[in-house]
Amino acid sequence: MKRHHTLLIAAFLAALAATACASQAVEHAMAPVAVLPPAPLNPAMTEVFDGKALRIILCGTSSPLPDPNRAKACTIVVAGANAYVVDTGPESWEQLARMQFPGSRIAGVFLTHYHSDHIGDLGEFRMQTMVAGRSEMLPVYGAHGVKAIVDGFNTAYEEDARLRLAHHGAGVVNVKTSPLIAREFGAGFKGELTAEEVILRDGDLKVTAFEVDHDPIRPAVGYRFDWKGRSVVLSGDTAVSANLAENAKAADVLVSESLSPAMISLVQKQMAGGGNPRIAKIMGDIPDYHVSPVDAAKMANEAGVKLLVYTHHIPSIQVSNPMYFAGVAAVRPADQWVAGWDGLRVDLPIGTNEVKQGELLPKPN
Ligand SMILES: [Zn+2]
Ligand SMILES: [Zn+2]
Repeated sequence: MKRHHTLLIAAFLAALAATACASQAVEHAMAPVAVLPPAPLNPAMTEVFDGKALRIILCGTSSPLPDPNRAKACTIVVAGANAYVVDTGPESWEQLARMQFPGSRIAGVFLTHYHSDHIGDLGEFRMQTMVAGRSEMLPVYGAHGVKAIVDGFNTAYEEDARLRLAHHGAGVVNVKTSPLIAREFGAGFKGELTAEEVILRDGDLKVTAFEVDHDPIRPAVGYRFDWKGRSVVLSGDTAVSANLAENAKAADVLVSESLSPAMISLVQKQMAGGGNPRIAKIMGDIPDYHVSPVDAAKMANEAGVKLLVYTHHIPSIQVSNPMYFAGVAAVRPADQWVAGWDGLRVDLPIGTNEVKQGELLPKPN
């Protein structure tokens, strides 16, 4: 009995020692591998990243005027395992969070110009993609001026990364890879609104930037993404632009901004009559550097695109009012255009001519 008892104690001590050694070994092995892996894709996103289609997701479809259902300018293009963001307007990250979009897959941000409704959430993208597990610095592509924008956001958000590191540790916060990194292009853009430049080639992906007419805002650019025989063009902010129509030639999809002159004229009159001359002045200024829905449809026709997706609606709270798109029906068939909303998804399956529409968030009323 006594011997049996001694044996039990010895076995217990041996087990304890083995456990201690094992846990030391685990600690030893774990120490260099401090970074936690990104969360697995949720089911809705598994298909988005299956590599079978070039995909377009709207993550912000409004403009500076307030709209409780829409973020400001933001569009995502998914090619294979990577996602590319065109503009990071205020509240756009929140829309992606609602979709459970995997921030670690965002491989680049492309800015069309530096109006606040296109860049406001850049700091949030810096932080959220870092927390989601981004493993490299995030490239931010833009024409002249992008470095100052990126430097400013890095300065403003550096302390945030340090504070989160102190609380959550290096497994979650990688301060080395958290910064944005500016990728400036457009040395040949002379403001003549006729230039284009291939700014990224990555495997089968080619991204071309081209000047658009958002005068007096220069530089202002649009982007074309070509991948495995499918293509999408994003207008950025622009008035009617021959260079946009040229660069959108034979693309599958054109995602275009728009401003309803009739609706903005109404707002202008209301503001002038209501004693708000500042907003009335702005409403009078903006139609000449945006494009009307009818003119966007004409550019889409000229370019020969299959689907025109309207975004950056001005004013977006009136986009369901038939007056907003008055005249478009006379220019372009109803099944060849759609008024975009935050969460609209368009798929371009490779090896086909199909253009499929779906949604990751429901359409607002
Ligand atoms: Zn603008
Ligand atoms: Zn804008």
